[in-house]
Amino acid sequence: YFIDQVLSSGQFFKITADDAHHMKNVMRFRPADTFHVVDRQKSTYLCEVTEVDGDINCRVLSTVEESPELPVEVSIYCPLLKGEKFDWMIQKSTELGAHEFMIYEADRSIVKLDDKKQKKRLERFSKIVKEASEQSRRQMIPNIRFVPAVKSLDFNTHDRLLFAFEGNALNPATSLQNALSDLAPGSRIAFIFGPEGGFSDAETELLLKHHSVRLGPRILRAETAPLYALSAISHSFET
Ligand code: SAM
Repeated sequence: YFIDQVLSSGQFFKITADDAHHMKNVMRFRPADTFHVVDRQKSTYLCEVTEVDGDINCRVLSTVEESPELPVEVSIYCPLLKGEKFDWMIQKSTELGAHEFMIYEADRSIVKLDDKKQKKRLERFSKIVKEASEQSRRQMIPNIRFVPAVKSLDFNTHDRLLFAFEGNALNPATSLQNALSDLAPGSRIAFIFGPEGGFSDAETELLLKHHSVRLGPRILRAETAPLYALSAISHSFET
């Protein structure tokens, strides 16, 4: 669970509203049960339930030192995908450590939504990433929003832009391992993935100015590609 206050060892606090409902009626928490809470400073604590009434009354037992976050921040740039594929992709990518999701408008995007529908969709996406963060004991909930087309995006806030590209005879893509080899912990990566129909020629030309990376020798579905990338990044920093 995430709580918008700063905690410390021994402190008593309450969990209220939707989270209290979830703990009481879904997880069936009882006094003395333990669970993890992430506070406003993104620190994780082992806590125990002291009393269950309208709210959940709790106490902090100890700090959890190991961080579940990836050593680099990975922003996933991916267009909306058909059906429930996008829901699935953000859920799994959150489990695998994605830092944020930028839903850009691709030239070959199949799904296009007006502002009202985007707002509704974001509500659902936010719920999915929150639940996935809790389940994976993340210390943060990835941010998710709609952004414009690749040609109007500003990637200056990132240390590296990686472009998931299968490669072709003229433009062979490098391996992900190569593209990551000189990245220090703490680096911010913008990782761009194409829609079901792949990138247009104009997008490809623009993105080829950055690092194009191949995600193995097989063509992956649009919803699989970010999962391959995040798993490989996670593995490459594993000691
Ligand atoms: N290239 C095909 C096309 O244009 O019809 C398929 C596109 S694939 C389903 C969707 C996206 O996943 C691609 O644009 C790319 O970003 C990523 N992708 C899939 N397999 C990949 C691979 N082996 N290496 C790099 N990127 C890949």
